[in-house]
Amino acid sequence: MRESVTNAYDVIIVGAGPAGLCAAMYAGRGMLKAVTIERGAPGGELLNTDLIEDYIGFASIKGWDLAQKMSEHATKFGADIVTDTVERIRKADDGWFDVETARGKVYRAPAVILTAGGTPVKLGVPGEQEYAGKGVSYCAVCDGAFFKGELLAVVGGGDAAVEEADYLTRYASKVYIVHRRDRFRASKILQERALANPKIDVIWNKRVIEIKGTEKGTDQLVLEDTATRARSTLKVGGVFIFIGFKPNTSVVDGHVKHDAAGYLITDDRMMTSIPGLFAAGDVRSQLTRQITTAVGDATTAAIAVEKYLATVKEREKAGVVS
Ligand SMILES: Cc1cc2nc3c(=O)[nH]c(=O)nc-3n(C[C@H](O)[C@H](O)[C@H](O)COP(=O)(O)OP(=O)(O)OC[C@H]3O[C@@H](n4cnc5c(N)ncnc54)[C@H](O)[C@@H]3O)c2cc1C
Repeated sequence: MRESVTNAYDVIIVGAGPAGLCAAMYAGRGMLKAVTIERGAPGGELLNTDLIEDYIGFASIKGWDLAQKMSEHATKFGADIVTDTVERIRKADDGWFDVETARGKVYRAPAVILTAGGTPVKLGVPGEQEYAGKGVSYCAVCDGAFFKGELLAVVGGGDAAVEEADYLTRYASKVYIVHRRDRFRASKILQERALANPKIDVIWNKRVIEIKGTEKGTDQLVLEDTATRARSTLKVGGVFIFIGFKPNTSVVDGHVKHDAAGYLITDDRMMTSIPGLFAAGDVRSQLTRQITTAVGDATTAAIAVEKYLATVKEREKAGVVS
């Protein structure tokens, strides 16, 4: 590849969560010249997760410990992880990608794997941050089992809120859906299922204005009526917030195919509609978003990149620019 260009790589990996670290490990084993650019500490959402009990091979592991293990594993196979924030990924006229960072660097490569994950939308109320991981959660599959026999609240009114409320009734004694309107946005079939579930009660026209608790964790929500502004409290052992999840895709310059919620659509090799731009993990349109799916996607993406680079070399040799 083009050795004369400063910061030239075979592949640039954006984000060092589970997907990015796994892609970096495979790229290292595949002897690719790769760089992984991460804006924070390696580990992604694992660093916001207390206990993980559904990553096969680890019956129970702390998010921080798994992040550390993944990072060490990737580094052992040569991952070069730099701390910087990617601001723009742009395909240049020569078919290579320019990846521009907040520190003013431009990294170049014929392939990029975007593993920048996404961010659950926060309520932004007092107590939310304080009790995150101590009763406040954004992932029912991940944390539901910690609340066996408890009273739970789900906040939101879209598909995710209504579907996850239904899911949580397998653990909770009761699930309150707190919604700020008088009807759901969720699809009809999901609504019907949830409303027919005897363990679900809907609290309409109320917004959560505070999450309270003790050193043990969340124990109540303060609600406000959206019409009268009257306040009330709701006793719960946990609250699951599903008011949206934003995939981190805004760094991609130019149109790239995505679904209605903004997740990137890929083919079965994880390539997006921009040739050479791959996506893996939470940033990708798919049924579920877990650590296992993130590392599965990343494995496919890293191996697909190797094959893609071989075609790029052939084309460069033949003088074709894509
Ligand atoms: C609270 C919570 C608990 C969870 N618990 C579990 C669980 O128990 N089990 C399970 O399987 N899954 C769980 N999940 C889901 C799991 O964490 C995600 O599916 C997984 O982390 C996705 O990995 P990823 O690498 O795609 O994205 P992420 O983990 O989100 O990593 C993305 C990385 O990209 C970086 N990044 C983003 N933008 C940029 C940029 N512009 N420049 C540089 N770096 C950037 C971020 O800093 C981050 O480190 C949980 C999720 C949450 C929110």
